Amino acid sequence: MTDGRDEDGGVRYEVVAEAYRDLEQASGRLMLIDRLAALLSQTPQELLPTVCYLCQGQIAPEFAAVDLGLAEKLALRAVATATGVEPVDVVAAVREAGDLGQAAEQLLATTAQDREPSLEVAAVVDTLHQIARAEGSGSQGRKLDLLAGLLALATPLEARYLLRLVTGNLRLGIGTPTILDALAQVYTGNRKDRPVLERAYNVCSDLGLVGATLASGGLVAVKELRVRPGNPVRVMLAQRLSDASEIVARLGGRCMAEYKYDGMRVQAHRTADGDLELFTRRQERVSNQFPDVVKLLQTGLGPREAILEGEIVAYDAAAGELRPFQEVMFRRRKHGIAEAARDVPVGLFCFELLYADGQDLTESSYLDRRARLSEAVTLSDRLRLTTALEVSTAPALDAMFEQAVADGSEGLVCKSTGPDSIYHAGARGWQWIKLKRDYRTELADTIDLVVVGAFAGRGRRRGTYGAVLLAAYDPETELYQTVGKCGTGFSDAELASLPARLAPLTRARRPARVDSRVPADIWFEPSLVLEVLSAELTLSPNHTAGWGQLKDDAGLSMRFPRFTGRWRDDKEPQDATTAQQLVELYRTARRAPAG
Ligand code: ATP
Repeated sequence: MTDGRDEDGGVRYEVVAEAYRDLEQASGRLMLIDRLAALLSQTPQELLPTVCYLCQGQIAPEFAAVDLGLAEKLALRAVATATGVEPVDVVAAVREAGDLGQAAEQLLATTAQDREPSLEVAAVVDTLHQIARAEGSGSQGRKLDLLAGLLALATPLEARYLLRLVTGNLRLGIGTPTILDALAQVYTGNRKDRPVLERAYNVCSDLGLVGATLASGGLVAVKELRVRPGNPVRVMLAQRLSDASEIVARLGGRCMAEYKYDGMRVQAHRTADGDLELFTRRQERVSNQFPDVVKLLQTGLGPREAILEGEIVAYDAAAGELRPFQEVMFRRRKHGIAEAARDVPVGLFCFELLYADGQDLTESSYLDRRARLSEAVTLSDRLRLTTALEVSTAPALDAMFEQAVADGSEGLVCKSTGPDSIYHAGARGWQWIKLKRDYRTELADTIDLVVVGAFAGRGRRRGTYGAVLLAAYDPETELYQTVGKCGTGFSDAELASLPARLAPLTRARRPARVDSRVPADIWFEPSLVLEVLSAELTLSPNHTAGWGQLKDDAGLSMRFPRFTGRWRDDKEPQDATTAQQLVELYRTARRAPAG
């Protein structure tokens, strides 16, 4: 391993900027891994966490909520200050170049072409943390000065990436699994070790911590990494099936059927200092939006240090009535938190305990965790456990399903009680299988797809998009595979706002991770997820989802897809419906009689 230190003992930021440039141009996954591995192998151990975050386009783990998102206007003024160019001329350069990073690179290429690289990674990241932290009066000026100070020393290439990073526009299109592959390649010499690293990442969500542990203690130390309050655990997810007997069979003849509440999943962490934080499944902090839930847990949760999961549901406790999902989402959007809490009262329906006072429970069986959960929580009107019943026959499961729907829930999540019933962080496995109302009516399966492109509108839709190109995610290849266009179901207002909503994701070329045989008019970095209803899935030579799995030279596409009006802002693009799930839906629909 060569050490990339310069003569002052640090690592130049230029090394990272050059890697960014190469990664942006790489065309395949192996190329990405090799380039990342080259960067990581040059990185001294003490700098490894920082470089891991930089590879993710961040300066800290995502859940740390370090907010770099500097307003473009402010960044633009910093460029003007650092280059001595008038702000209007910077604006013109941005218009011409397409983004601020490239504009700054071009401006510096004339004003600072002979500048020697002198910025060091540690100092750059330290300054970026100062920028993120600055708040209150005078903070805008301070942010501006700090950024202009960096740009005054930056080479043109460094400026390009610094600006993209601070404005939140550094989209390299590399998934965390790719970085884990590169870490494995460098430190164990074998990418087959990635699952060990992946497990560790899934329980602590901190790539820097995984990297540092691997570098200092090897795979043995990585295996020892445990969940810790304060670090969100990547959530365990469910498969879906539409037939009760198939579910019972899959789960070994017996399972625990829990009501599936239609609300918002949160993971509550109470740390040793008594602080309680709620994380969404995207690891955003939402305690401020749900002070009532925090209070419920502060009184009702026994263990001092704990990690618990539950669903926040709009809930009329007096009537015992579950309210629809949209009402909880309304809570998230509304500004007056106190009124919102009054207008939309919620309850927390708990279903997991992952940690309690020094004990990691993720490796315990479902029944043990459930028993610990019920000991840990003192129930009240609004703090409940999910309704659950052990079931061993299909008729019993069907009856429970009917009851769940009659009680206002979406259906059931059927959970394994067998020896494999540990909490699989970050996995969508067959230990949890959901049975939802939609799947019963064969025509109406909702799926969550990623917007990867768009087609220009004509006629009434001129100036906006006529349809968006949608893709499913394939975790094997980390590709987004298209499954059709969708132009139906958008309200006029929604359509009019689409170009602005998608503008930050626009790409001149098809992003490397989008696998498409259809030429879109505009491409987008995969990011936004929306919910779609489709009449049917059919084989198609034009779409790449599940390519070759059902028939050579064909993938799957949707017939009559329709946007349901529900943006899945709670999902990352890699949480979208997978290509494999579509293949299974297709097979199930062919097997079951229609109607
Ligand atoms: P969907 O769109 O069907 O809600 P999803 O893709 O968001 O599914 P899944 O893993 O497929 O997530 O379904 C499980 C989700 O259901 C959880 O993320 C959680 O938000 C919710 N949920 C409601 N009740 C339960 C429960 N009793 N146990 C586990 N999850 C539950």
